[in-house]
Amino acid sequence: MSDEPQSEIPDRSAPDGATCSEHEARPALARCPMCGRDACITCWHIAADRCEHCLASDRADAAPPIPWETDAGFVARWFKTLATAGHPMRTAPGFARLERRPAITFALLTTLPLALLSGLIPYTFTLRFGPTFHISLIDNPSQTDIAIDLARAAGVGLLITALELLALGASFVSLCRAYGGEDEQRAGASAAALRGLLYRSFLLPLAGIQGLLASLAAWGLPLGAMGTAEHPGTGAYIVPMLLLIPFALYFTSMRQTARLAAGLKPVPSFVVTVLPFVLMVFAAALSQSLLAPLIPPTMPLPT
Ligand SMILES: [Zn+2]
Ligand SMILES: [Zn+2]
Repeated sequence: MSDEPQSEIPDRSAPDGATCSEHEARPALARCPMCGRDACITCWHIAADRCEHCLASDRADAAPPIPWETDAGFVARWFKTLATAGHPMRTAPGFARLERRPAITFALLTTLPLALLSGLIPYTFTLRFGPTFHISLIDNPSQTDIAIDLARAAGVGLLITALELLALGASFVSLCRAYGGEDEQRAGASAAALRGLLYRSFLLPLAGIQGLLASLAAWGLPLGAMGTAEHPGTGAYIVPMLLLIPFALYFTSMRQTARLAAGLKPVPSFVVTVLPFVLMVFAAALSQSLLAPLIPPTMPLPT
């Protein structure tokens, strides 16, 4: 199967009046090119270009392998795996394997450094970041003060990301396992859930108001970029987008992982994703308040 996006989408539409081969009462949306059966809207997987029946018979076959798990060079594997996050639907079936180790290695090499970096801008007391990428000292700290402060800020970033990931991951994996069908399918469902979660976990330290992307924007924006309530500036549009996009991509990825890789039905796949994300938001708020003595007052955006 090609990794390239198809330039021409083949016509899969079912004949007029056809009904789903699984659900007789429902009109068919598409005719599966693999088995020739007609499939309704819940049985047809447009991104995998096959029906539920064919997807379930070999889920991993419905997507290119995760680039990290191929024989390509290290750098190419790493960048291509990052890029798969931009195609959450097309790539999700690739998580339907049992190997956990490559996903853990990828998360350690990617999410861990990003989590440490994500702490630097929002949680440093001795340095003021911004506007326009300036860094100034606060209260004349010594070199040692700054070094200790940066290490502590990186530690806070890591701790908050770890708590969020734990809240999200523990609930997502156990819910996918619980809804993952018969006993013998459950191990596969929980492995797929964990793999999807870890391969896309680098999106977490990028997301949110204290996330790396919003912090970098707040550091780099010039004075006045946020504008006022009556006249919002460019920054007022850029910053919310930067903090929401990784979050939305992670949510979509997890939903598609539950649906296409763990094999959950449409409604359960939504529920097992929404609940963990709500838990994660609580975990984030809780960790912010527990770590309050270690966190400086919120950095003002340049106004
Ligand atoms: Zn089929
Ligand atoms: Zn159907």
